[in-house]
Amino acid sequence: MAASACKVALQATTCSPERPARIPDSAGLAMRRFDLRSLRFGDSSEVWRRLPVEVDHFVYGGLDYEVAEGSVDFLLTAARVGDNVTLSGELGAAVIGPCQRCLGDADVVVEARGVEYVRHGDSEGAEEDEEGYVTSFIVDVGRWARDLIAEELPPKLLCRAECRGLCVVCGADLNADPEHRHDAA
Ligand SMILES: [Zn+2]
Ligand SMILES: [Zn+2]
Repeated sequence: MAASACKVALQATTCSPERPARIPDSAGLAMRRFDLRSLRFGDSSEVWRRLPVEVDHFVYGGLDYEVAEGSVDFLLTAARVGDNVTLSGELGAAVIGPCQRCLGDADVVVEARGVEYVRHGDSEGAEEDEEGYVTSFIVDVGRWARDLIAEELPPKLLCRAECRGLCVVCGADLNADPEHRHDAA
């Protein structure tokens, strides 16, 4: 009796159609820190890695924004000269959030690039109180990516360049009703 129950259980396990598929969650797989010691230069003086980097949401113009999927594709290139490494980071990100005129959905694609000089495993200038992105060979790629994106944002994030915004009197969406106006009192 026990043996047959076991057999049934085994069969049920093998052919179970409810086995959950791997949930695609790029933010969950994305990283925030990268260890420079994992790079293998070999004979070359330059290596690169394509990293999925998790980017926190951020406040811009008093409103909350995030990158699509919560992560960006970050191309990290490391060029080595002796104990010094020059890192360059490149990314493209779709930033999504509210339009700063009408609060409707807005998105903007940002291409950003930055360079970080690393000396003996630390960002150059770190000892002069400048906050670098590399400490003890660990690159804070999450913060670096976020700062690069922030630097490239347009002065105003709009749903479209000609967004009419909201009525200053009653808050009506002027895109939906361009004829909207109040008679002067
Ligand atoms: Zn708008
Ligand atoms: Zn109005």
